[in-house]
Amino acid sequence: MNRRDRKKVFKLQEALEKLGYTLDRWGVDGWLGDETINEVKEYVRDNDLKEKYRALGGREWKNYLPDELVDEIIARAEQVPEEEEEPEPEPAIVVPEPEIWVPPNFHDYREAAAKKRKKKGRRKRKTNALADVTGITLHQTACLLGNRARLGFGVQFTVSRSGRIHYYWDVQDRCYHAQNVFNRHDVGIEIDGYYAGIHSDPVQRKKTFWKPKSRPNRKPLELSDEQVESVRNLIRYIVEEIARRGGEIIWIHHHRHTAPSRISDCGELLWKACGLWAQEELGLSDGGNGFYVKYRSKSKRKYTQGRPTPIEWDPKRQYKYRYRPPEPTKPVR
Ligand SMILES: [Zn+2]
Repeated sequence: MNRRDRKKVFKLQEALEKLGYTLDRWGVDGWLGDETINEVKEYVRDNDLKEKYRALGGREWKNYLPDELVDEIIARAEQVPEEEEEPEPEPAIVVPEPEIWVPPNFHDYREAAAKKRKKKGRRKRKTNALADVTGITLHQTACLLGNRARLGFGVQFTVSRSGRIHYYWDVQDRCYHAQNVFNRHDVGIEIDGYYAGIHSDPVQRKKTFWKPKSRPNRKPLELSDEQVESVRNLIRYIVEEIARRGGEIIWIHHHRHTAPSRISDCGELLWKACGLWAQEELGLSDGGNGFYVKYRSKSKRKYTQGRPTPIEWDPKRQYKYRYRPPEPTKPVR
């Protein structure tokens, strides 16, 4: 075979690939190089054709691949049925450990997310000490991400409106979802959708609803049952997973606890459905009446503070939604 006949070389390489002799380094490129030759040799060995082509050794192969052999390989490949076009490869649902309960609709993307981060040349995430991971922070995305996986997302979990749980970063990976101490101590859950800070009162609902300038007509969403179910399942899963590793989750937080700009995050509806549930059902604590976080931002060199759980979210609390707290009552840990 004339090695300058690139069309033929292409054909040969495609045939080799199809037969499972993969050209990992250079691929199907139309050049008859060592990689292709080696795979042809492999083919000869596998099919007991050594005797037949013994005369051709070493360098000769490069300059003279017998047409007969090349045609045989191509013909052989044509008999292999075409593989069906696969849709977008999705990582399989991975069950981390057999002994731990995994909620339904749970999709583990940790490996794929780490791979993407590496490919982008970014450093590996820091790991939080197990003893430090003591809480869970609930967020609302304030937009609609939908069901598609977003491997670049910087939080451990997202839960879609239809209840799909995406696991992007390990519960001990440090994600910067809350701008301060919660990053070190809490596992973040971003709950998809836009919700009002106060939902029960129509006037307040309008006032406490954040929307982007580009969406002036956006109205706050109502809860979705599937989503609430999945968030509750997920909180239970995180508690169990940390316990399995030998740690303990004791806090359930909302983003409002720590950031003045996020006073409606996660909002009344989600807090009542998931935050209060976690306290009643799993015995987690929101820090008690008036708890919030005050901290000094290193980059901005000033103190900022969150706000306590308002009475509108939890009737056991005494502070109003807009209440600006005096001094922190308790450190985060
Ligand atoms: Zn948030």
